[in-house]
Amino acid sequence: MSDKPYKSALKVNPGVEKPDQVNPALRQGKKKFAREKPDVQKLFEGIRKSDPTALGRGITLIESTLQEDRPTAQQLIQMCLPYSGNSFRLGITGVPGVGKSTFIESFGLLLIEKGKRVAVLAIDPSSLRTKGSILGDKTRMESLGNHRDAFIRPSASAGTLGGVARKTRESMILCEAAGFDVIFIETVGVGQSETAVSNLVDFFLLLMLAGGGDELQGIKRGIMEMADLVVINKADGDNLKRAQMAVQEYKQALHLFPSLPNGWQPDVLKASAIQNEGLEEVWNQISSFLNLTKENGFFEKNRQQQALHILDETIHTGITEHFFNHPEINQLMESLKHQILEKKISPYEASEQLLSHYLKGKK
Ligand code: GDP
Repeated sequence: MSDKPYKSALKVNPGVEKPDQVNPALRQGKKKFAREKPDVQKLFEGIRKSDPTALGRGITLIESTLQEDRPTAQQLIQMCLPYSGNSFRLGITGVPGVGKSTFIESFGLLLIEKGKRVAVLAIDPSSLRTKGSILGDKTRMESLGNHRDAFIRPSASAGTLGGVARKTRESMILCEAAGFDVIFIETVGVGQSETAVSNLVDFFLLLMLAGGGDELQGIKRGIMEMADLVVINKADGDNLKRAQMAVQEYKQALHLFPSLPNGWQPDVLKASAIQNEGLEEVWNQISSFLNLTKENGFFEKNRQQQALHILDETIHTGITEHFFNHPEINQLMESLKHQILEKKISPYEASEQLLSHYLKGKK
């Protein structure tokens, strides 16, 4: 072989050093290299100054599934709590493709023009299964996302619906402490997450399409009943006429529902999120709703009911988890299950035995 350098297209040029593929801290055997304990005071101060990085970190802490993060997260929430509650919380639902992101972007920008600061959070039932996320795609809501008066957070991606709803509520507290005065909670209108969202928000907006038919759009009657406002989106171009007809049809359908205890009569409007049309009317409706419910006390009453509902729900979840994770109960349950299958005992009797065993010594 000659001494000449070996000529190959694969030759590595000098000058650019290939970075180490293994994190150097790991090489040194430091296992916890990436997990610096968050400084709660600093996070809190950052959030109060509306620093998006601090707010993002705070929400990450809340979303953390690590048990060791829970006390720190709780501490942060407690610190933010006195500064929360002053926003308007707006739930938006509709099937995928109806235009939720487009609508939130256009409407969010309109609200910013009106002097508001806008945060967007999401509850995504599909992400509960796939760990994907509806707001995960960064190209969505780009101009809103880049605005200094907006904060967009992709959906929390793990856990049960109840767990995600709780984290969203807690994230909302942080957003409020950071001075955001309108908080959008986006969810996909396929049924299960609407109830969770309606327990988090002041106003529920349902986006629909003309001509899809309720069933095609996967919208159940229950969801229509929850809506404070229905907006037929994509009312533009060839679709405008159909949208106008749909408005009339849905108005009639809504009038068949019993009126709401808060005195509000849900209405149907049309809009084009893409052409920025009909959005002022949507805001006018929301303003009327706020005026009415703040005056007649239902705004506050709704929030109080939500708080009590959360108390209830959290206790239910806590007790259920405690019961099902109890080793003795698990053991007894296994044997009783066999007896049920062998028809030696009824499921009612078995549950009574389990409950009395569980409650023994707890009185
Ligand atoms: P999402 O899945 O509900 O968030 O829907 P997107 O906001 O991603 O919108 C789905 C598609 O509908 C996109 O191609 C949008 O450009 C389009 N779109 C959204 N709003 C409108 C609208 O008002 N008019 C028309 N013509 N298209 C729209």
